[in-house]
Amino acid sequence: MRKLPFDKAKLDEITANYPTPYHIYDEKGIRANAARMCKAFAWNDGWREFFAVKAAPNPHLMKILAEYGFGADCSSMAELILAEKTGLSGEKIMFTSNDTPREEFRKAWELKAVINLDDITHWPFLLETVKPAAGDWEGRIMCCRYNPGPLKGGNAIIGKPEEAKYGMTREQLLECYAQMKAAGVERFGLHTMVASNELDPEYIIDTARMLFALAAEIKEKTGVELEFVNIGGGIGIPYRPDQKAMNLEYVGRGIEKAYAELVAGKGLKPLKLYMECGRCITGPYGYLVAKVLHMKKTYRNYAGLDACMSNLMRPALYGAYHEIVVPGKEEAKETEVYDVTGSLCENNDKFAIQRELPVLERGDYAVICDAGAHGHAMGFQYNAKLRSAELLLREDGTVKQIRRAETLDDYFATLDLENI
Ligand SMILES: *Cc1c(COP(=O)(O)O)cnc(C)c1O
Repeated sequence: MRKLPFDKAKLDEITANYPTPYHIYDEKGIRANAARMCKAFAWNDGWREFFAVKAAPNPHLMKILAEYGFGADCSSMAELILAEKTGLSGEKIMFTSNDTPREEFRKAWELKAVINLDDITHWPFLLETVKPAAGDWEGRIMCCRYNPGPLKGGNAIIGKPEEAKYGMTREQLLECYAQMKAAGVERFGLHTMVASNELDPEYIIDTARMLFALAAEIKEKTGVELEFVNIGGGIGIPYRPDQKAMNLEYVGRGIEKAYAELVAGKGLKPLKLYMECGRCITGPYGYLVAKVLHMKKTYRNYAGLDACMSNLMRPALYGAYHEIVVPGKEEAKETEVYDVTGSLCENNDKFAIQRELPVLERGDYAVICDAGAHGHAMGFQYNAKLRSAELLLREDGTVKQIRRAETLDDYFATLDLENI
């Protein structure tokens, strides 16, 4: 069973102040992981991770990551505002969106964020939107998102690049850089995102190789010399007990080797390596803490929790596996088989199906692991469910509420109940 950063006594203490269900993040784990990542890529001058805000859009977490030099990868208005509130601006923000509304381009422009274009038609759309004057490009960086199509093999979650709606073809990319250069843009980057929850380090190293080679081609064909390549996010985490975490040091060394060959070796100017991971930054350090509310026996054994898929949608959405730990029963044998359910009127509202667990009773804690990314963030209000609180377990063992739970007033705030 997974080792947790808290035991049952600690949960009792926390739950006295904050009723279950809640999400809790382990600050110590997040910090150690961020520091480790910085070290693995320290060979690259200017390396930066832009935390994918959508994974855990909480400024308290973003602020911790900012201490390690991390920026923010934003793709919507609210995410841009979250980055702004965290104190980030300019080159610390990558704005990578698709099907982009005008006001979001305006906001990204106002923040002087790195604007990453998803399509060649977004270039005239951006110009029309922000109407840059001569001199406005000074200090700003423009970026293009590359979709390698059939040149890059598929990935289990994100699918095949040629079926993905994101990014430009190679030809469009070259044309877009040429147009931007002609219009006076001075600083450039290149981006791709072709992985999701990938555990094979070679896939990530290959992505870097692909972009390094493309940087040389862009220089040769358009005269544009890039400042950075951003290999995207998508580094996976071991949700299942039989999976292994990606070895970041191995990835760091592999990309360093590719850099020596394809960047330094080809006489290109130094390139900064950027990444925009979400899952592997906070995923393993967040837990959904729930309690067993009902035990039910029909054709199967059910343990009904006080949480549901509006607190963590991944199992219902992707059939994703999340380990479940029962604090206080860590030593007990996993002799029973349960479907662990939530209360939504959807039969796929199950955190685990036919899972071997210790004998469960009403009132037991059920801690659902690896909920720190794409967890609370995917919450929704279907079935009029309310989203839970987010707590931070600090390094000194104290707990800080970093988002309160929603109330019925929040739910009803958008309805006019007086004039029905
Ligand atoms: C979702 C997303 C990420 C982060 O993905 P993870 O799997 O959480 O690392 C990064 N960049 C873009 C453009 C994304 O859409």
